[in-house]
Amino acid sequence: MKMKFLTLFKLIFKPLDKTIFFRRKKITCKSCKTTEPGGSWIDLVNQVRHFYKKGVQFDFGTIYYCPNCNQPWYLDHNDTTLSYVHDSSRIEEWMKLSNNLTDEQKNMFFEIGATPLDFYEYGKDFIDLPCKVTLINEQTLDFVLIRLQKDPPFIYSEPCYNEYITIDKVVKIEPSEYTLNPELRLQTCQAREIRMCFSPTRVIGSNGVQYLLNGVTNFFYQDNIKGSELKNVLKSDAKYELDLVEQHCNFKVKYIIGHWDESLVRSRIANF
Ligand SMILES: [Zn+2]
Repeated sequence: MKMKFLTLFKLIFKPLDKTIFFRRKKITCKSCKTTEPGGSWIDLVNQVRHFYKKGVQFDFGTIYYCPNCNQPWYLDHNDTTLSYVHDSSRIEEWMKLSNNLTDEQKNMFFEIGATPLDFYEYGKDFIDLPCKVTLINEQTLDFVLIRLQKDPPFIYSEPCYNEYITIDKVVKIEPSEYTLNPELRLQTCQAREIRMCFSPTRVIGSNGVQYLLNGVTNFFYQDNIKGSELKNVLKSDAKYELDLVEQHCNFKVKYIIGHWDESLVRSRIANF
C-alpha cells in the first residue's frame, strides 16, 4: 500500500515539479546574466533550442534570441559553438547575400590560388584569396582578402572583421602585385611554428635585402618592395641585413566576405 502511494505521488508531482521549475527559472544568456549557466554543454544547447526564439536559419547554423534580453546568438549546425552576435544589424544582409560570382571571378581563385591551410589545418572553414579588387563604386583596393566562409562574419570579434565589405560589392578580381608568389605562400603557411607566433621564412627582395617573414602568408610591402618581387633564399646565402617582418605592418588588409563555395575548395594552393 505504501509503495503504491509513493508511485502515485511521483506520477502526480514529478511532471508538475518540472513545470514549476521551468516557470520559476528565468532563461537568460551570458549577455544579460554575469554568472555562467549551469549544466553541461548539451544542457545549454537544449536550453537554447527549446527556450530561445528561433531566428534566421543559414546553411551552417541558426540565429537564436535570448528570451530575456533579446540578444541574438548563433548556434552552428554541428552544435559545437554558440557565438555572440556582435553586430545584429548585419544579420539580414548575410541572409540576403548571394555569392553570384561570375565565371571570370571564380577562375581568378584558381589563377591566383586560394591560401593553403596551415600546418595544423587551421582555416578549413575559410577559402581565402589575397587579391586586388575593383568595387561597384569604382574604388580599387590592392590589399584585399576575399574570404568565403561557412559561419557569418558578425560572430567574429577580430579587428580584421571591422567594417568588412560583402562580396556582392565586387566587380572585378585581379592578382595583386603585393601578394607573395604561390610557392612562398605555401611555404609560409606550412611553417611548423606558425601557432607559436614565430615561424620565420627567409626571403630576398629585388633590392638584395633579405627579410624574415613571420606569420606573413599573403601580402608584403616594405622598402618599396612588393610581395611578388620576393624570392625564397637559403640561410647559407645570408649577406645582408635581416628584418623580421610581421603580418600587416605597413598596410591594412581589407576583408571582403562571402558565403562558402564548395567548388572553390580545390583552388587552394597545394604542394608543388
Ligand atoms: Zn540574455
